[in-house]
Amino acid sequence: MFNDDQLMRYSRQLLLADFDLDGQEALSRARVLLVGCGGLANPAALYLAGAGVGGLLLVDDDRVEVSNLHRQVAFRADQVGEHKALALAAQLRSLNPDVPVTPVVARVDAAWLDQQLPEVDLVLDCTDNFATRQAVNAACVRHRKPLVSGAAIRLEGQIAAFDLRQTDSPCYACLFGDGTEGDLLCSEAGILGPVVGTVGTLQALLAMHLLTGKPVDPQLHVFDGRALSWRQLAPRKDPHCPVCGDPVAGEDG
Ligand SMILES: [Zn+2]
Repeated sequence: MFNDDQLMRYSRQLLLADFDLDGQEALSRARVLLVGCGGLANPAALYLAGAGVGGLLLVDDDRVEVSNLHRQVAFRADQVGEHKALALAAQLRSLNPDVPVTPVVARVDAAWLDQQLPEVDLVLDCTDNFATRQAVNAACVRHRKPLVSGAAIRLEGQIAAFDLRQTDSPCYACLFGDGTEGDLLCSEAGILGPVVGTVGTLQALLAMHLLTGKPVDPQLHVFDGRALSWRQLAPRKDPHCPVCGDPVAGEDG
């Protein structure tokens, strides 16, 4: 299934008993959607393309700005002004031409997600606003797709994986509610590049675990970038969750 060049390219991960040829084959069959092409998606997409994922679908309607370059590590100064989805796709193709990359310049909504999700195996939420996060979560619940959610602001990062293929998995709204208020944007609050890079990198790692059949606990991991410490919260599925809850349980409540 893999040619000699590919066996050499992936040799250091094939060496891992925890990954090996089975993991490589599972990864090479998987198509991943990255919603947002900024500071989280940049490292996540680089690692997934480098690892030989089966395909990447990238969506963002923003353009690269000079103020993005300190944290959006895939972009180069001569890409300022380009659409992020196209600029990221170009870098991924130059890293690993074997991985098909489909960039889409669009603002994500429920209709777009309903059209695309049947064609993908996993979704990385790499956005910076609650409205899109909620739309992505609701679509992943509807289509039973695993979701790896990441966020970073100032010196704090958060990451959580929701394996929504399992009906007893909590979803993003079980944890954070289904509101869309309270956006805190990097353009206003500030962000250090390595903090958002840490979260995006771990989104790629969790995606690789989920796509190669490793169990992933539904935990919220919170990163303190000043103390270099992590704490974990274990979200429970909320039977009254407006997105994934049982409507009958909701009526009882
Ligand atoms: Zn829920």
